[in-house]
Amino acid sequence: AGLVQYAIDQVLHREPGAGGLPSVLARFADAWDAQAALALALRADGSPLVLAGYPAEAASRARLAAAITGQLAAHPGAGPGLNPGGSFQAPLAEGDWLVPASALIAWAAGGDGEQRCVLSLIGDPAGWDAETRSTARMLAAVIAAQVRHVGDAAVLHERGAVTRALVDAAPDALLAVDAAQRVVAVSPAAEKRYGWRPAELLGRDMPGTLIAERDRAAFVAGPGRLVAGGPGEPAGPVELLVRHADGREQLAELTLLPLVVRGQAYFCILLRDPAASEPAPREQPASPERPAPPEPAPADVHFRLLAQLAPVGIAETGPDGSCTFVNERWCMLNGGAPADYYGRDWLSVVHPEDLGRVRQEWARAAAAGGELDTECRLAVADGRERWAHATVAALPASQGGSPGLVIALTDVTTHKAAEQQHDRELAAEQQARRHLSDQADRVASLIAMAVPAIVVADQDGRVSQVNESFRGMFGIAEPPAAFTSLPAAGLARRIAPVFADPAGFLATMDRLATGRQPVSGLDLSCADGRVLGCDYWPMFMGGSYRGDIWLFWDATRRKRDEEQRQRELTAARQAREAAEAERRRLAEENAGLREVADLKSEFMATVSHELRGPLTSIVSYTELISDEKDRLSTEAAAFLGVVERSADQLTRLVGDLLLLSRIESGTAPLELAPVSVREVVAEAVRSLAPSAERTGVELEGYAEDGPLIQADRVRLRQVIENLLGNAIKFSAAGDAVRVSASWSGTGWRIDVTDAGMGIPADEIDRIFEHFYRATNGRRAGRHGSGLGLAVAKALTTLHGGRVEVVSTVDRGSTFSVILPAPAAAEPAGQAGVPGRVDARGPVDAPRPVDVPGPLGVPGPATPGPATLAGNGKAGPGLPHPSGDIT
Ligand code: ADP
Repeated sequence: AGLVQYAIDQVLHREPGAGGLPSVLARFADAWDAQAALALALRADGSPLVLAGYPAEAASRARLAAAITGQLAAHPGAGPGLNPGGSFQAPLAEGDWLVPASALIAWAAGGDGEQRCVLSLIGDPAGWDAETRSTARMLAAVIAAQVRHVGDAAVLHERGAVTRALVDAAPDALLAVDAAQRVVAVSPAAEKRYGWRPAELLGRDMPGTLIAERDRAAFVAGPGRLVAGGPGEPAGPVELLVRHADGREQLAELTLLPLVVRGQAYFCILLRDPAASEPAPREQPASPERPAPPEPAPADVHFRLLAQLAPVGIAETGPDGSCTFVNERWCMLNGGAPADYYGRDWLSVVHPEDLGRVRQEWARAAAAGGELDTECRLAVADGRERWAHATVAALPASQGGSPGLVIALTDVTTHKAAEQQHDRELAAEQQARRHLSDQADRVASLIAMAVPAIVVADQDGRVSQVNESFRGMFGIAEPPAAFTSLPAAGLARRIAPVFADPAGFLATMDRLATGRQPVSGLDLSCADGRVLGCDYWPMFMGGSYRGDIWLFWDATRRKRDEEQRQRELTAARQAREAAEAERRRLAEENAGLREVADLKSEFMATVSHELRGPLTSIVSYTELISDEKDRLSTEAAAFLGVVERSADQLTRLVGDLLLLSRIESGTAPLELAPVSVREVVAEAVRSLAPSAERTGVELEGYAEDGPLIQADRVRLRQVIENLLGNAIKFSAAGDAVRVSASWSGTGWRIDVTDAGMGIPADEIDRIFEHFYRATNGRRAGRHGSGLGLAVAKALTTLHGGRVEVVSTVDRGSTFSVILPAPAAAEPAGQAGVPGRVDARGPVDAPRPVDVPGPLGVPGPATPGPATLAGNGKAGPGLPHPSGDIT
């Protein structure tokens, strides 16, 4: 009931400034929680005319109006003449409304019984009941009562919008007064120009308020007469002083236009600034091809006058769409003269590329009985793109005027350009946003996947990101999101117990965050033995601090490897140091030994030198005494023999000592010359033959023919004699001692072999030392100085050769002298042909050795020697070769 009363107040007794039908629909929809409400009037031909809609979308949706009209036509009880009023519910088809919905449709017949008004509620029918339907019917009846004549409603609706736009946009001040000269409407321009607010003018006597007192009489006598006399022809313009709200008076050009609205007489007053008025546009002469502008019907005159003043391009057409009227602004917008448009289709002003679309849109709108509201480009001759907003409405023939169309064009080029620019900027911004969010997503997923634990904090020290790895690393059960925007310091306290030194960890974190200096590769030890690496980066953008990034990763393995490497390095260093110490020790020891050896050599040199003088005296005087042997007693002669042998022995000893000390001091002279090894061996055999004979040892000598070598003949012989002497000395009577020399192709090898007592294995290494004598030899009472082998070795070494020994205790020994053949060696005889060292007589015979003929001449063809000479080694028969030295 409240809603119906409200509707009556708003629609039937409409107060100025009240919300009218749209506000009734809004309340109606709201009361039943509907999505929309629509008020329609049906024309005589059944086509719908939208009176009002809520929301605005409902009013402008031609398809909704058509759907409701269609439902009504199809409803059995709703045919014209059947029921003056009623209601029913019907589902709407998809696309009729924004979402699937039903319509409650109520209709009521107008006062004439033929025109009908329809009220529809659109939404979910679940909440609709009997009360909804009865309210809808009553509201439909209220609207029908108001719309007594649908033609009025149509005119009101169709022109209302245009007229309102004209009034609002008119640059000149417009006022409407009723027949009693009371102000009923004020245009914004009038308000602006004269400073009156609408409330100060509405309902007031117009001449009494607005016309200056001294001109009031002129108004009453002039245009005012028209008001008093009722509708007639327009009056004016006349110049009058108009009163400003602040009391000033201003000259204005006043024109008065009579209007009839719903049978009532009204007057429109135009007030123009005479200073700004321009001469009226010259009438364009009509071109002969085009029809002259048709005379407007009298009822249209006022509309056209208003249209001329409008800042909107306006055209009126006949039923075929050809223009019957265009205003100045239309011509300006489209760049032509009025005559260019008269008789031509209004669509000719539309840009060819938009023409098809606009034509289609208009056809659809017209079919649905609605208006066209669209934007299109204009076919302007100057080639620039001009956009217009076009409103096209059909004019019914019922108003007394001719049926046709009204088209209003508004220039929206600037707006359009701004819109396009805005669209472009928006698209660019969206693109940028998408890009940014893509980037952010990527970074986020990278952070989530990253193996190191990551904590990102903002400039306020609050956690903005924590990744999965972080949880795993610090054994945290909550999801990473649980830490977002918590203080980073709190998070640090939370993970501190993981570290071996929690307080130290917190102090470090604090120090880093305060210092804001990037730190990398910090090692933090954990309580469980792990070692975590930590990086810290403060983030700066454009120089201003934006927060911190912390990175933690498991560095246990790296640390362990590092420590292992360190241990290895330390061990290697220690080993090096130990080796170095050992080397130093040995070097010192060597130096000591060398010193001892040097002292020994010096001592030997001194001793032998000092002994030589007295020894020479002893030998000389012994020889002198020996010359007087006959005068000595037998006993004295025997004593003299002992002195002679001892002196001889001492002479050899001193000779050996002197020689050794010279060799070791590098002053031993070698008198090198081509030497035949074979001859040297023969000489040595001959020299030792008496000694062998004395001890009952068999002495054999063999030698191959071979190249001469560069050698000191005397010294080389001394080497072989020393070895032969030892072999004889350490052999027993009946044993054989054999010397054999062989040429290997690269050098000489001289083997001295005996079958004597041999040398204990652990002493072999020492027998070349000065004065060393093996234990078995000493026990067996063999005399000696222990210098013979040292001399042999030193002399062989001086010749570039070496001495080797192979010995077995109680089996015998073989000493070998190996002499490489110097490049200067000359062939002697037939190299490689074996031969015997020639000695006259058997070796065991106590007679001087006689070597006949030159070397290289084969000896007698006795069996044996040849078999021994191949490899220079003692053959299987050793030590019993079958051949004799002859
Ligand atoms: P000497 O023969 O004067 O003792 P050497 O320097 O010639 O001194 O020999 C050193 C030692 O080598 C001998 O004392 C002896 O013990 C051992 N020796 C040398 N030659 C032989 C050998 N043919 N058989 C056994 N022992 C030998």
